[in-house]
Amino acid sequence: MRKAVFPGSFDPITLGHYDIIRRGVTLFDKVIVAIGVNADKKYMFSLEERMNFIKESFKDEPKITVVSYKGLTVDFCQKNDVKFILRGLRNPADFEFEKAIAHTNRDLAPIETVFLLTAAKTSYIASSIVRDVIRNNGDYTKLVPKSVRIDKT
Ligand code: ADP
Repeated sequence: MRKAVFPGSFDPITLGHYDIIRRGVTLFDKVIVAIGVNADKKYMFSLEERMNFIKESFKDEPKITVVSYKGLTVDFCQKNDVKFILRGLRNPADFEFEKAIAHTNRDLAPIETVFLLTAAKTSYIASSIVRDVIRNNGDYTKLVPKSVRIDKT
C-alpha cells in the first residue's frame, strides 16, 4: 500500500491544503494528514480544533486519516511504514524552503518528498493570512473548507 504523510500545522486548514490532500488521494492509497505538535509554538486553534476541522472536511473519504505527532516527520514516517511525504508548492519561497527540508529529510531517512503545485485559485492562501483575517473580523469563509467555523461566543 502506498501511503503518504502530509505534515503541517494546519492552523487552520485552508482551501490550499484541502486541494493538495484531495489531489494526494489520487496518487496514494492512503494520505495521513499529520499535525506536528511544537510545544514552543503559539497556535490560534487548539490541536483538537485543528484535528476536528480536518476530520470533518474529509469525513466521507476513507483514504484520509488525521493524526498528530511530535518530533521529526521522518521518524513518524518510519514508525508508520510510510515512504512518502506530500508537500504543496505555492511560489519560489516555498520551493527554497521545501528544498532544504526535503534534502535534510533524505539525509536522515530513505523517504521521498512528493510536491504538488498549488491550484492557481488557491495559490495565494496561507494559514497566517487566514488567521489575520479572522483576528480582524474579515470574511475568512472564502479561504477555508466549510468545516472551519469559529464560535464567536
Ligand atoms: P507549516 O507552516 O507547519 O509547514 P502549513 O500548514 O503552513 O505548515 O503547510 C503545510 C503544507 O501545506 C506545506 O507543504 C505548504 O507548502 C502547503 N500549503 C500551505 N498553503 C498552501 C496552499 N495555499 N496551496 C498549496 N499548498 C499549501
